[in-house]
Formats: sequence, structure tokens, C-alpha cells
Amino acid sequence: MRAAAVIVAAAALCALLAPAPGTFKADRVSVTYSGIGEPQAEAIGRAAAAARCAAADLGYDMPEGISINVTCGADQRSRLWTDGRDHFELTAQSEKDFRKPAESGIFHLYGMCHEVGHLAQYRLIPKHDWMTTAAAEGWAHYLGSRLVDAVYAREGPDLWPDKYDYRADGMARLTRQLSSARPDEVAAGAGLWLELAGIVGERGIPAIFRTWGAAEADPADPGPALGKALLATSKDPRLAAWWKKAEPVFVQKRERSAFAAKTATPAQLAGKPAELAHDDGTPAGKMSLTGSGHAVRFDAPSAASYLVGLRIYGSRYGAQQPPAENFHLWLCDGQFKAIADFALPYSAFERGEPKWVALPVRPTLVPQRFFVCAGFDPSSTKGVFVHRDASAGGDSFCGLPGQPPQPFAAGDWMVRPTLDQAKAGPGTLRKK
Ligand SMILES: [Zn+2]
Repeated sequence: MRAAAVIVAAAALCALLAPAPGTFKADRVSVTYSGIGEPQAEAIGRAAAAARCAAADLGYDMPEGISINVTCGADQRSRLWTDGRDHFELTAQSEKDFRKPAESGIFHLYGMCHEVGHLAQYRLIPKHDWMTTAAAEGWAHYLGSRLVDAVYAREGPDLWPDKYDYRADGMARLTRQLSSARPDEVAAGAGLWLELAGIVGERGIPAIFRTWGAAEADPADPGPALGKALLATSKDPRLAAWWKKAEPVFVQKRERSAFAAKTATPAQLAGKPAELAHDDGTPAGKMSLTGSGHAVRFDAPSAASYLVGLRIYGSRYGAQQPPAENFHLWLCDGQFKAIADFALPYSAFERGEPKWVALPVRPTLVPQRFFVCAGFDPSSTKGVFVHRDASAGGDSFCGLPGQPPQPFAAGDWMVRPTLDQAKAGPGTLRKK
């Protein structure tokens, strides 16, 4: 009885500390929240609504509505992200995270403006793999800072429940960051976007994003196509000078491998596929990697080994229906440069319980040392959790082909290639 009473008391206390889940609707923005009070949810919703409205006024393609989900609880960490289309996800640990930034270190009003900044760019440039952090985060910082000032103009000084002068988080802060001797990568990127706005005008940027969104850029070297599209919008010599400076900072090259993609038909193979594995087969954790991929390095057993498929232990998350898009598997050389890119339907992974998913690919010759990499371009609303085992053997990495792979220290990805051998015979074995 006593224990039950304690539990009831604890539950009552929790109810006091954590307000019931609620919804706040502002102008084309809807906030669902748990663990925070209505005043905070309202301020978040109003900030996003004002930022959305200001971005639309500048000519950006804004969604009909933005949904924001806020979850605050001891099991959460402080994070904010967007799916790049119409949804924000905000998590925080405690009510303290919603105090003014001088006390919490967290800038929620700026955060909403920053995410609207991402929407402004990503909706017009749906394929933005070529962007560096300086380009994408620098942009969200630039437009986000501008939008903070626009939100202030519309909502005034009393917007945040723990009142403070949030103009300090707008262009005033960016200007200060840019006046420092060495602004960081994101601030420097924001500075380049600010320069572009100075050349083409604030309202000239959406048109540039549109032409970049329509450009057919070669992932191995997207710069020339993007530059051509940009310079077609204006003959202003300042624009060409700007691009010369911005291209190396903003555009990510993904160098391809010099190892030729040599394919084989099943008839040319021995028909004795064998799987390679670094993981021990026991899942100990799972991850979805935004803007990155799950890569594992292997050594081929012979000089005539062909990759014929992969198995990945994982499951899909997000909507019941799989997204109508492909994910990518890459075969890379020992420097993590892509030899072959296989696009496979997202529907290969089911929601719910994880399992080994077999993914056949067109048989492709592998070099002596090679990587396989899976990239799902995940967001908060779609993705695949790839599992790992408990101890890292040193051959698992995070990254996308053409970038330096980052060693993954938490375990071995449960990603296994299957290799078959070329049938012995004239012309099928590579010369030494
Ligand atoms: Zn961001």
C-alpha cells in the first residue's frame, strides 16, 4: 500500500512538472508539445510563423504549413532538426532549456528562424548533396539571422516567455562574428551569402536557388554546372568574382575511383557466393546517419572477386508506407572513392523488427581493398536504422563516398558484402 501511495505521489509530481501533451496552432504553423508549457509552445509557434511569413515575402517557396514537434524530458538531449520540407523536431532535457539564452545557452527563437532558413534553401534545391557545411549551415545562419530581425519587427520584444532582447541573435550577432579575425566555418559561409545578397539583392537569391535546383550537376564535380547556371542569371561581373571565391568553399567534389567498374553476368561467375563479415552477428545498437552513410572496409579474397550483393541488419522508420524513393549502396575503392553506385528501393526495408535484408547488386569487380557503403539520406520522418555490434574492429566508418571516411568507434556496422569469383578461364582473371 505504502509503495503504491508513493507511486501515486510521484505520478502526481510528474504531472505537475511535465504539463500534459498539447497543441498550439499559429498562422500556418502547428506545434505539438510534451514536457513544456503552453507559453513556450506558443512562442515557438509564433516565431516559426513570423519567420515563415517573412521568408515567403522574400520570394522563397514555403510549405502550406509547418509542423513542429517538441519533446522535453530527462531522456532527451537538446536537438533541433528539420526534414527540409515542412517539419521541425525539437528535443530538450528540462524546462531550464527554455530559459533565456544567457542562462540556458539555447537559442530557440533563432533556432526556428534557422530551420526556416534551411527550408528556404532545400525546398528550392532538393538535390543539395553538393553543399558543404559552410554552404548549407552558413545559409541557414545567414537567413536565420535576417529572419530573427523580421520576427522581432512583427512580434515585438515580449515574444519569449523569459523575456530578453532577442535582436542580439539576429544580424547584430552575425555582423559581430564577421568582424572577428577568424570567423568559424558557418559564420564565414554566412558571410559569403551576405555578399551574394549584396550583389543580386535579397530578392535575387530565390531565383538563383531555383536555377541550381534545376541544374544537372555531376556529383563528381558539380562546380561547373552550378557556376554556369548562376552566371546565366546575370552578367554582373561581381557575380563571377563572387563565384570564384564561393565555389571552393561551398561545393563538395566527390572524386570517383580510377578503378574501372567492371561487371560480369551470372554465367561468368563460379556460382559460389561467400559472405564477408566484420561484425559478430549480435546487434548492440542502431543508428540513422543524416548527411552521411554506413561504410565498412574489406579485403578481397582474390583478384577476381565480384560483389554480388550485400546484407544489412536493420529496419525502416517513419511512415507506414515506404517513401517512393531509392537509397544508395556504393562499392568504393580503398580510398573511399566510388566505383559503382547502386540505387535500390526504400521498400526493401520493412518497418518494425530489424532483420537481415539481402540486397542483390549487379556483379561488379572489387579491388583488393574496398569499401561498401549504404546511404539512406534520412530525416526525422524517414530512414533506416542500421545496427552495429558491441565492439569496433576498426573497419567501420561514417561518411559518403568521395569524402574522407570518419572512423566509427561504437562497434562494427552489420553490413556484409557477398562476393563470388570469376570462373577460371582465359580473359576472366586479371593479370598480376
Ligand atoms: Zn542547421
